[in-house]
Amino acid sequence: MAMQSLLTAWRIGWYFHRSEGWQSHQLFIEGIILRDFWFRVSLPVALSALVALLLWGIFSAVVALLFMLAVLLIVMAYRARQLFKLGEWLNDARIETIPEAGGIWDDVFSQLYKMVREHNQTKQELAAELHHIEQATAALPEGVAILNEMNRIEWFNPLAQQHFYLDAEHDIMQDITYLVRQPEFVEYLHESNFNEPLIMIPARHDDMVLSVKLIPYGGNKRLLISRDITQFKLIEAMRRDFVANVSHELRTPLTVVSGFLENLQDMPDLNQENIARALHLMAEQTRRMDNLVADLLTLSRLENEQSPLREETVDIKELLDEVDQDGKLLSGGRHALRMEIASPVNLLGNRDELHSAFGNLLSNAIRYTPEGGAILLRWFERGGQPVFSVQDSGIGIAAQHIPRLTERFYRVDRSRSRETGGTGLGLAIVKHIAMRHQAKLEIFSEEGVGSTFMLVFPVKRSLH
Ligand code: ADP
Repeated sequence: MAMQSLLTAWRIGWYFHRSEGWQSHQLFIEGIILRDFWFRVSLPVALSALVALLLWGIFSAVVALLFMLAVLLIVMAYRARQLFKLGEWLNDARIETIPEAGGIWDDVFSQLYKMVREHNQTKQELAAELHHIEQATAALPEGVAILNEMNRIEWFNPLAQQHFYLDAEHDIMQDITYLVRQPEFVEYLHESNFNEPLIMIPARHDDMVLSVKLIPYGGNKRLLISRDITQFKLIEAMRRDFVANVSHELRTPLTVVSGFLENLQDMPDLNQENIARALHLMAEQTRRMDNLVADLLTLSRLENEQSPLREETVDIKELLDEVDQDGKLLSGGRHALRMEIASPVNLLGNRDELHSAFGNLLSNAIRYTPEGGAILLRWFERGGQPVFSVQDSGIGIAAQHIPRLTERFYRVDRSRSRETGGTGLGLAIVKHIAMRHQAKLEIFSEEGVGSTFMLVFPVKRSLH
């Protein structure tokens, strides 16, 4: 009997040893076996043996034996019941359902209770930790997916879901090459060197560019990291276009100038009239290059985020008079130029930049308005907002070009722009200056009728 109980206690101990850490269970076994176990297990047997001895003295050996037998049967039945309860409870070990018991079983159950409570607490802590990690990976600016050695997806975060169009419910443990089938991707997965990322366009978002990288970890698992580099690629393409455009813009005048220079060298006996013509054309092309470089420098200065707007009070009347004078010189009397100042407000802004923006708009109006046309410069208030506008009766612009006019080097009619000394950068400069003043550039135009370009400033910039 005692051996059986000892065995049971050992089994319970073993069970906890397997399910929890060794240390606490070793203590538990020691606690039961070494301290109390023998004493408490043998106490009822020893007491009943004493009583049996007494009965033997008073009655007979048979009575004493019968008594002993009855006591042992009761003890066995009690222990069997407790074991049964324990077995039942272990099938679904929850704190709320832990059985109540007395004597040595109370110790067992209270130890069990403590362990289940600790276990639950650890479980909760781990769950909270897992939740934190999940939140952190969800907030990552990159897509992350875990692949096993068979390329099956074990887990992915919401961005990876977007990038590869994955389904959180159905695609777990699916082979990723069934879901992302681009040959370059499948090939990349089978490579052994992942130092370089793969640049790919996902099948369902052909306007997106992804940079994909595999990182092996933990023996045979792999992290699939995906990054949306669409913007980066767009900027790269813009930069390439810009360099190509600038080179192209410079090449034409340079070719003209170098052609004339070669001619002059090859033909030293050229007459004065031809030499003068060649010099005039060379000067014209040099001016063109000069204008282009000046506009490029202005743009780069405006784009430089380190150069904040130097604000001052700009006397609008004085500024517009200057712009008007420049315009009259440029027009050379070919247009009817009028100026109307309908508001007394001045502006808080940078005078040089505003001069450049207003001047560019007026120069465009003059260059794109045929001889005899009318041009009106206006300064007025619209709903409290100060507005500068240039209205012309020129060639106008077809609606589809209007949204692109402020792009660098965008021209509706290339040859007309060049003939009139345009660089293709004027409106890009105007837009930048407008942005630096929190102003809006509004364009209204009708082909063959004329155009109006407006700079609408915020109320906070008007000075009374
Ligand atoms: P550009 O140096 O070629 O004039 P801009 O950036 O100033 O470059 O203008 C871009 C294009 O917008 C011009 O090439 C021209 O086609 C068009 N444009 C600008 N202003 C006017 C206007 N007042 N009337 C008609 N077209 C205009």
